[in-house]
Amino acid sequence: MAMQYVSTRGAAPELSFGDVLLTGLAPDGGLYLPESWPQVVSSARSGNYVETAIDVMWPFVDGSIERDTFEAMVADTYATFATDNVVELVETAPNEWLMELFHGPTLAFKDVALQLVGRLFDHELAKRGGRTTIVGATSGDTGSAAIEACRDRDAVDIFILHPHGRVSDVQRRQMTTVDSTNVHNVAIEGTFDDCQDLVKAMFADESFRSEVSLGAVNSINWARVMAQIVYYVVAAQRVAPDGSPVSFTVPTGNFGNVFAGWGARMMGVPVDRFIVASNRNDILTRLFTTGTMAIEGVVPTLSPSMDIQISSNLERLLFETHGRDGQRIADLMAEFRDTGSITIDDAHQALLGELWHGERVDDEGPGGVVETIAAIHEQQQMLLDPHTAVGVAAARRNPTASPMVTLATAHPAKFPDAVEHATGVRPPLPARVGDLFERDERFEVLPNDLATVEAHVRSLRRS
Ligand SMILES: *Cc1c(COP(=O)(O)O)cnc(C)c1O
Repeated sequence: MAMQYVSTRGAAPELSFGDVLLTGLAPDGGLYLPESWPQVVSSARSGNYVETAIDVMWPFVDGSIERDTFEAMVADTYATFATDNVVELVETAPNEWLMELFHGPTLAFKDVALQLVGRLFDHELAKRGGRTTIVGATSGDTGSAAIEACRDRDAVDIFILHPHGRVSDVQRRQMTTVDSTNVHNVAIEGTFDDCQDLVKAMFADESFRSEVSLGAVNSINWARVMAQIVYYVVAAQRVAPDGSPVSFTVPTGNFGNVFAGWGARMMGVPVDRFIVASNRNDILTRLFTTGTMAIEGVVPTLSPSMDIQISSNLERLLFETHGRDGQRIADLMAEFRDTGSITIDDAHQALLGELWHGERVDDEGPGGVVETIAAIHEQQQMLLDPHTAVGVAAARRNPTASPMVTLATAHPAKFPDAVEHATGVRPPLPARVGDLFERDERFEVLPNDLATVEAHVRSLRRS
């Protein structure tokens, strides 16, 4: 039987994998989850990334894609990574591990899922004889990972909006030097918020939306979570091959990455603790500490990919821990939307506290990001990017008896200024992207105007 997917708000029809892949958000405003969690099959023991990935993901996609096609797709996806292991596990101290997730084309963990999602999109659209125009706004990381995932895909055109002159050189070049006819970079004369508003306005424009078959690859897409479950399984295999429990610390923004850890646990991976590591934007730390989740403004930090106001994927965890009661979650989310705050009752808070802990790490000060980058450089001659440093600092404040695996979400060379500030060393780009500053850039500068941007998309998308 093919897996069906249910909405966290309980009022949307169940969908197949292919529909969930292309739909993103459910019509009732909820996020999709599998109707049940399959158990990791015993053959997922090899420690081989591609084999494990196929075993772990197959029950989720079975019925939407042929087994042979899926196997080839997964192998092809992870052949784009710079190491044969795809992700590397490095022991940094007794019982303390780093899981390097940044060996993909854009040097950040989002590649692990997006490289697969781009291929899944192409396959599903070809099957249906359709096309899609992906639009997105980026302040850096997400844009380049989405572009690398969609480049050269037959059924996809991609337009990424970034704020003109306000993205770091490395991040802009990772987007604008991609030489592919279906990739379109637009520098908007405005801020990141302006870019995001333009994208929202394009999605709200019904006639434009259907005319160009607008699509998104945002972090609430179930397929991204699915692909991220794999490396938690792999980490447990490699760090504790005897099957004893492992803990994870995850530098968190939208809660997509750490929620995948929950998925792995539900599939049978023994997990002792999850440490949810946040920067100064600490809505999750406050939730796990006080039971109340309340919106505040966003503060810029050295770890910009975690500068978020709301962690959308948290809704999935709330659904899981509230007995999968969709009506309950719909009520909670309505309250959150209306008042900017919700409180989890004591019983549920206690339940969460058994497994989850939230930790906030500031940039400056004792045990902060800058100090942690400097300390790890001194002790291990290793350079951490600021996102990973939030994780390492949070892990060190919360020692466990079980092995602690901290997820390294970006390569230090993606954030050279912060790393140089902390250590005096400017991290070099890895050889495979070393010519980034010699490549030609291609982007169009457009005013912050919806009609102009829509006309640009219309004229360049392939039909
Ligand atoms: C996106 C991102 C994060 C946050 O991941 P979420 O899934 O949104 O929690 C952390 N670090 C880096 C480098 C990222 O790009």
